[in-house]
Amino acid sequence: MSSYTNDTIAGIATPTGGGVGGGIGIVRLSGMDALITGLKAFKFKHNVKKPRNRVLHFGHVMDDGTVIDEALFVYFPAPATYTCEDVVEIHCHGGAQSLRRVFAVLLKNGARPAEPGEFTKRAFLNGRIDLARAEAVMDVISAGSEKALILAGKTLEGRLSTAVEELYNDLTIEAAAIEFYLDNASHPFGEIENEPAASPTYPNLNSIYDRLDNLCNTYNTGRIIKDGIQTAIIGRPNVGKSSILNALAGTERAIVTDIPGTTRDVLNENIILYGESYGNITLNISDTAGIRNDANETVEEIGISRAIKSAETAELILFVYDGAAGFTPEDLDVFNITQNLSAQLICIKNKADLPQIPDTASIDISPISISAKTNSGFDALYTEIGNVFNINSKTVSEESVIITNERHYRLLRNALSNLSAAIHSISSGMTEDLTVMDIQEAAANLGEIIGKNVSEDLIDTIFSKFCVGK
Ligand code: GDP
Repeated sequence: MSSYTNDTIAGIATPTGGGVGGGIGIVRLSGMDALITGLKAFKFKHNVKKPRNRVLHFGHVMDDGTVIDEALFVYFPAPATYTCEDVVEIHCHGGAQSLRRVFAVLLKNGARPAEPGEFTKRAFLNGRIDLARAEAVMDVISAGSEKALILAGKTLEGRLSTAVEELYNDLTIEAAAIEFYLDNASHPFGEIENEPAASPTYPNLNSIYDRLDNLCNTYNTGRIIKDGIQTAIIGRPNVGKSSILNALAGTERAIVTDIPGTTRDVLNENIILYGESYGNITLNISDTAGIRNDANETVEEIGISRAIKSAETAELILFVYDGAAGFTPEDLDVFNITQNLSAQLICIKNKADLPQIPDTASIDISPISISAKTNSGFDALYTEIGNVFNINSKTVSEESVIITNERHYRLLRNALSNLSAAIHSISSGMTEDLTVMDIQEAAANLGEIIGKNVSEDLIDTIFSKFCVGK
């Protein structure tokens, strides 16, 4: 466990980013001297000897007799607080300057600046939430889409923790059952009613394996919902890639030009598509330079190699050709590049608003016809993306637990391979103490997800990714 003291920490809990700031901002204190520290920096408007629990009191934040800001003071007594410690919040004006000055006064009165994630870390160390739930706090704060927020909310609520805890307990019981068998088998007097101990088969291990496997398999969807789909739009120059990106983004971020090959670099966008049939899907989309073989400028060559690179790392390739020009041999060259990549491929026939030249392609590319100019056909495209990635409006509401966190996924995979080794060692008649070790190892991996027996270093690493004040 992390070395832990309940000294008093202060942190600005609301954003202090640029601009004029919010109407209200919150600076909070947590620790054994939270109340004393807060009181030293605050003058109540009315005669308040001791603030009432969880009640807002009006007054001023003071620095050596000078008024810093008009504010509200609220005291949350331990243990029913975010951190399980005494907590004080000062609700002042939300401008960066007022927040920083209030924060500075609290430090002057004895608090120390909170480390990143330290409030949530204390909630974990004090046993209010487990590690998976603590991590979900960050996911709730940083959720980039409504679905991502719903998933993070479920993890914060404890659904993942409950599922993992159940698997952990079941594995522990299995390991104990095998150990019991081992003890009795190795000791003749331990045999029940002098019957020789039957060699057990542990059928539960298979069902635990299936449950683990199902949980692991949710990661594909979970990751896409949380992080979006890495997408590349590729096609020969002038087929309308930038125009499609613009239409998708609804903005004018990409440069659209009718001189072939002038989209020289790769532009990146996060685009959230909304629609009834698929809920929302985030595309992390790169607008790549037109791919063609005879690049005549160095800058463009660089752009083209980046286009191929971004297609190589993409999970989704939107391959575009121009319906008004038909499927040309150059299109086939680009299409062939996509065939060696592992991404999902959706073919788009653009410029549907113009007279179309029938496709003479020798391969079946089943394109979706769209026009980036008139915006026609995009609904069909969105639906196809949803189908390809198995995301629809029900994906989140139906699945009770979906893995979104890479650390959780890795530990589940480890547990799965431990368990597979355990099942294999039983079926191949190897000594059962090895099986027990594998099962215990699987349980330890699951325990790490929810923070059982985790190292101080791991805890520090996880919480250091949080922002200050969380
Ligand atoms: P890129 O080189 O593939 O990125 O192609 P651009 O997006 O720069 O488009 C090339 C040219 O085609 C521009 O003149 C666009 O205005 C035009 N264009 C793009 N999409 C459409 C479309 O759907 N219909 C029509 N009529 N023109 C389009």
